[in-house]
Amino acid sequence: MAVGVGGVWVGGTHPIAVQSMTNTDTADVAATAGQVAALAEAGSELVRVTVNTREAAAAVPEIAARLREQGISAPLIGDFHYNGHLLLTQYPACARALDKYRINPGNVGVGKQHDENFRRMIEVALEHGKPVRIGVNWGSLDQALLSRLMDENAKRRKPLDSKAVLREAIVASAVESAAMAERYGLPHDRIILSAKVSEVQDLIQVYRDLASRCDCPLHLGLTEAGMGTQGIVSSTAALSVLLQEGIGDTIRVSLTPAPGGDRREEVRVCQQILQSLGLRSFAPQVSACPGCGRTTSHFFQEMADQIHNYLRDQMPIWRERYPGVEELKVAVMGCVVNGPGESKQAHIGISLPGTGEEPRAPVYVDGRLRTTLKGPTLVADFIQILNDYIRNRWGQTTEHRRVQ
Ligand code: SF4
Repeated sequence: MAVGVGGVWVGGTHPIAVQSMTNTDTADVAATAGQVAALAEAGSELVRVTVNTREAAAAVPEIAARLREQGISAPLIGDFHYNGHLLLTQYPACARALDKYRINPGNVGVGKQHDENFRRMIEVALEHGKPVRIGVNWGSLDQALLSRLMDENAKRRKPLDSKAVLREAIVASAVESAAMAERYGLPHDRIILSAKVSEVQDLIQVYRDLASRCDCPLHLGLTEAGMGTQGIVSSTAALSVLLQEGIGDTIRVSLTPAPGGDRREEVRVCQQILQSLGLRSFAPQVSACPGCGRTTSHFFQEMADQIHNYLRDQMPIWRERYPGVEELKVAVMGCVVNGPGESKQAHIGISLPGTGEEPRAPVYVDGRLRTTLKGPTLVADFIQILNDYIRNRWGQTTEHRRVQ
């Protein structure tokens, strides 16, 4: 089943969508619109902003308007906790401007108020024709539901361990909330579910269970994944297992940025996960060996970096001009041991000279030796060969279309 979110389809046979979330104060229109634009331009196909205060709710329509003026079409999602029922009701322009509402069933109130507040948010979604993500998070799990399941578990002849009950509560919260949303009138095809936890093995178990108990599109993500390498590796490990099993329709990698760090990193990691798994192609890939004692200098590392940056910088233009160029594979290798072999597997590859080797760098194109480069213009010459290859291989599609 697929759900339409402001022009982007999530689920069914649609490509797995990349999403991200801003960390600006949503009430700051310029900062938030700027960051949403940056995330969208980096490839985030849906962007979420927190809507936590009256000022934030009041700012949302202006943020959306600025983005549309800039030609940014990525759907804008509102993240609501505690007061979403009030903000969505009291700020109808905000409710209209958002393309989807994220509701955390653990944070909509307790007891009778829980159901009333939840119902109110669903009514607003219905009024404005918006889809909803019911996003459970184990850091804010519905405590009433957890207590109920703990009580039921205590009465079993063989009680489950508390972690298993917790996982069951997370899944049950998502599934039961979806059923409740449908009872309040929300169509089945307007519901996306997520059930995020912060430990890899728990996430895998929770999502396997969730996928077996519903057919709603699933948003995947390891919550509170952490900083840098830890966050990237943990998220990749968890998401890869699930995506390989066909579980997950949209993903986010929740990285804690370093002070002054680049928020777009989480978008790039999502793209790299999907591309590494062969599920989507976003940008040309550069294969480069790690280097070892056979390499004479850092030259090949610098060259790999230069080529990588060149490809990344050209992509906004190439994506338009040369459709399909994201499939390109380039190899930059440090010596003759694996250099020629790896280079032949790529569309274009160069094998740089290692220690004691003749200072010549053979270039392979489509598996065949094209030429041998040497001297100070080596990088520029290689880039020229690269440009010619791209124009010849993918430029013809554009020319052909123009003729038609
Ligand atoms: S290709 Fe050569 S330089 Fe690179 S890691 Fe292998 S042996 Fe070392």
